[in-house]
Amino acid sequence: MKEVAVRLNTFFRKKKAEGVLEYFLKEYKGKIALASSLGIEDQVLTAMICRIDPSARIFTLDTGRLFPETYSLIERTNQAYGIHIQLFFPDYREVEKMVALHGVNLFYESIEKRRLCCHVRKLTPLKRAFEGLQVWICGLRHEQSVTRTTNQTVEWDEVHGLLKLNPLIDWTETEVWEYIRQYGVPYNRLHDQGFPSIGCQPCTRAVKPGEDLRAGRWWWESPEHKECGLHR
Ligand code: SF4
Repeated sequence: MKEVAVRLNTFFRKKKAEGVLEYFLKEYKGKIALASSLGIEDQVLTAMICRIDPSARIFTLDTGRLFPETYSLIERTNQAYGIHIQLFFPDYREVEKMVALHGVNLFYESIEKRRLCCHVRKLTPLKRAFEGLQVWICGLRHEQSVTRTTNQTVEWDEVHGLLKLNPLIDWTETEVWEYIRQYGVPYNRLHDQGFPSIGCQPCTRAVKPGEDLRAGRWWWESPEHKECGLHR
């Protein structure tokens, strides 16, 4: 499958995002989904997907620690496109065991505990969400982080055994916002309050002008660790 990913990437890299999505949504119908983080990139992808095939699967992970503004965005997006973004929740037994052992705010104590929380609240539900899939669509961009500079338009995700599609990989932040404004795409209101990248509430804060895009995510960790494990 790695060879398939390389071949597809050679063909689709530098191609327009809509064209890439159109091919994959048709070719892998029923076996492809957008794993939306509800960030600006995923909102652009949602808008594109809804124009091409409104019945395509879009899901997000409800970690139980999201901002109220994020829940509001889910509702506004569903209404705007007449869709139902599917929510996947963590296993309550795993969450109960984790917080009983380490407390509710364990993520501030060490990278290991932060990764454990991301594992329980994101990675395990993600595995369930991936059942039956062959391709997952993501809103990764090179510009977002030092951990994302080598990602490709189409790549083989060894960890999850899936093709991973990053149609916006070469887009700049300016291009993403231009698309959002041009097409009136719903976005998280926290973006207007200094939050360029939004995840769970306790692990996200606003950034100062000039600061890195992901400086407000897990701000107590060094940049090379700033991934929740979804995009290894
Ligand atoms: S981002 Fe923070 S609260 Fe959310 S799952 Fe990871 S460690 Fe837990």
